[in-house]
Amino acid sequence: MQTRFTAEQLRDPDIAAAEPILRKCVHCGFCTATCPTYVLLGDELDSPRGRIYLIKDMLEHARPATASVVQHIDRCLSCLACMTTCPSGVHYQHLIDHARVHVERTYRRPFADRFVRSLLAWVLPYPARFRWALGLARLARPFAALLPARLSAMLALVPRTTVGATSIATPVGATSVATPRRDASVASGGARRVALLAGCVQTVVGPQINAATERLLRRVGFDVQTIGGCCGSIVHHLGREAQNGDLAAGLIERLHAEHARQPFDAIVVNASGCGTHLKDYNFIFRNDSALARKAEVVSALTRDITEFLAAHELPKPTIAPGLSVAYHSACSMQHGQKIDREPRELLARAGFTVAEIPEGHLCCGSAGTFNMLQPEIAARLRERKLANIARTGAQVIATGNIGCITQLGAPDGLPIVHTVELLDWATGGPTPAGVRDSSTSRLSS
Ligand code: SF4
Ligand code: SF4
Repeated sequence: MQTRFTAEQLRDPDIAAAEPILRKCVHCGFCTATCPTYVLLGDELDSPRGRIYLIKDMLEHARPATASVVQHIDRCLSCLACMTTCPSGVHYQHLIDHARVHVERTYRRPFADRFVRSLLAWVLPYPARFRWALGLARLARPFAALLPARLSAMLALVPRTTVGATSIATPVGATSVATPRRDASVASGGARRVALLAGCVQTVVGPQINAATERLLRRVGFDVQTIGGCCGSIVHHLGREAQNGDLAAGLIERLHAEHARQPFDAIVVNASGCGTHLKDYNFIFRNDSALARKAEVVSALTRDITEFLAAHELPKPTIAPGLSVAYHSACSMQHGQKIDREPRELLARAGFTVAEIPEGHLCCGSAGTFNMLQPEIAARLRERKLANIARTGAQVIATGNIGCITQLGAPDGLPIVHTVELLDWATGGPTPAGVRDSSTSRLSS
């Protein structure tokens, strides 16, 4: 694609980064076939190619975003399926991230929109605030039908209960993450050490995931230093550049200080949306003289938990689970980090039968805060995903991202758990909540 940026425009490092991405697009349209919003809506402007045109036009002419452009950009899930499909290697992720920041800088959203987005950005990255908000939301749930559609969609996503953590070490830099209690049965040999990102939303709605991850890592032989605080991913997808910069810089400094004190073998992340973001810090901070080098180190050390475990010897299973698992690969896992094989192989090695979900490349509609900001599209993607999962006949759903767990979970549906909960269970941990399997038998050691 030809571009016509002036020399002065190209002095802006963000435009300089966008230009070669735009030039790589050859308009072939292959990406449209795997774009969830194009598949659902059939509008070229809700396809990757259409959005690339809109972004190019807006940036080239240095135009403020219009309501129409914002609508199509907001409908993008940032699922990055288009990047997996694109034969030309168009780095759509950096383009849409830039476009979202441009929208925030140049477009004044309607009041209700501004209010909801500000509320999400004020609450979600901060566990203490999020806990309060969840409590209030549970009280408000009986009145959901009386509320505007977007607020009632937000209430529908609130988990009815929060599973308690069974073991999590004290995180560095996040006083609000609870329950520092060690499980003596999983003490490691202490020879090697990893950082475990505690995260924000997950510490509130799924603390059992960090507990299972920590037990697994110790069983494999690693000391675990839990590092608290939001990585900035949630607000990054809202186009909030400054808030993302603050949150990410804080996390980089905490990780770097701990790494300097005693080096980590890896920074382990068990929410694939956060992992994708940490792996992109080297790009986000590329022009920051104080943080560029530290961000590079963090990105280079970051591993998804399944990527990390696949490179190490897991303990032998202590049970024969006999369960069929529908593995739902989160978009940030399969498209953002290109991790496909490892979670499936780990589950199979632990004794589970892994069922493939039809249309596995399509997003479930979670996508950070997308399911709260675009509830109609998110609901259609959820229904489609659950119908495809039902076709597998599996007894449980496993995935590697807390957003998908929240999006696909339902009190009357199949249990949905994080992949590490199943691996932890198979190698000596507790049975994950909701999973009841009569065909499981205990193996003699
Ligand atoms: S990121 Fe996902 S929703 Fe957005 S254009 Fe690409 S495929 Fe479509
Ligand atoms: S597949 Fe790649 S090159 Fe083709 S239209 Fe989509 S983004 Fe452009």
